[in-house]
Amino acid sequence: MQYFQDAGLITPWGCIEHGALLAGDGKIRALGAVEAIACPEGAEVIDAHGLLLSPGFIDIQINGGFGKDFTAEPGALWEVAAGLPRYGVTSFLPTVITSPPETAQRALEVLRQGPPPGWRGAQPLGYHLEGPMLNPTRKGAHNADHIRPPSLEVIEGWSRANGVILVTLAPELPGALEVVQELRQRGVAVSAGHSAASYEQALLAFDYGVGFGTHLFNAQPVLAAREPGLAGALLDDRRVCMGLIPDGIHVHPGMIRLVWKLAACERLILITDSMAAMGMPPGTYKLGDYEVFVDGTSARLADGMLAGSIITLEQAVRNLCGFTGCLLEEALLSVTEIPARSLGLAGKGRLEAGMDADLVLLTPEGQVVKTFVNGELLISAK
Ligand code: ZN
Repeated sequence: MQYFQDAGLITPWGCIEHGALLAGDGKIRALGAVEAIACPEGAEVIDAHGLLLSPGFIDIQINGGFGKDFTAEPGALWEVAAGLPRYGVTSFLPTVITSPPETAQRALEVLRQGPPPGWRGAQPLGYHLEGPMLNPTRKGAHNADHIRPPSLEVIEGWSRANGVILVTLAPELPGALEVVQELRQRGVAVSAGHSAASYEQALLAFDYGVGFGTHLFNAQPVLAAREPGLAGALLDDRRVCMGLIPDGIHVHPGMIRLVWKLAACERLILITDSMAAMGMPPGTYKLGDYEVFVDGTSARLADGMLAGSIITLEQAVRNLCGFTGCLLEEALLSVTEIPARSLGLAGKGRLEAGMDADLVLLTPEGQVVKTFVNGELLISAK
């Protein structure tokens, strides 16, 4: 048993100052004001005075990190996962981008086989398959040679039970809506992205069960007065959540403030979209088939096209606070409660009795101090 004493507890209902949380057997057992939660005899007391205790962070779009890319090297899954707790990440959706069909199959197989003996790290909950059913005119850093039109053949073997949680596709393509319906039947969430969808096409896709937008504003039409497009539909329609890369490069801080005013604490999910260079020095790295040049602030193809980010989820949270002036506890909802609730990630994203003891102790400035996955301490300061 662990007894977190005198922490600010981040809950969806606000922050409980001077709180206590009891964890045991990998689960949260009880929480509340410190005087209301007794410390059982024999429990390990963790003094959290002056710190905040948050649910573990969840990254729903991450291409890799620590020099490894999930698409180029699906077998690197567990190695990358082992490094993520240092940034407060306790679970994530490894993301495989547009690639030959064997790549996704191989990735699913790696997840099915499970981690090597003695492995510890952030838990991969299932994949985010970003592609291959994308609009070639909005392909970004995806290889057009592997883009395929939507069809039931492409999604053969894709289901939640098989380890696919989320699929990004362009819903305006012929046949896409049938694919959306079928994926939803199989328990897979669908996100509109790398898309040229008009506002009307996007709303129709939401009717069919598309519930997310992938990296808002990036690889989609600009928001324009008479053509709101996919971005306008995502911002306007409260049925959907949207991922946003808050590195200050993919989206201007002024636009992030605008998004915050429309979707704060409800529908905004911070993602890193990080690639292999996350957690690494500047240099040349892989994203799928391509070489990516990383200069310390951004990751780009040889022609200058942005190719994922190098931001960490910990930094993403701090950036959102910095760009919008929001409270840390508000920003944290975008990497905990909102992704967990919108994707139905059981046991995740919330401090509540019975949930998994995926926990992050943070300074009030948002620096990760300790990260616990299923109650196990994986990092202590950096
Ligand atoms: Zn993308």
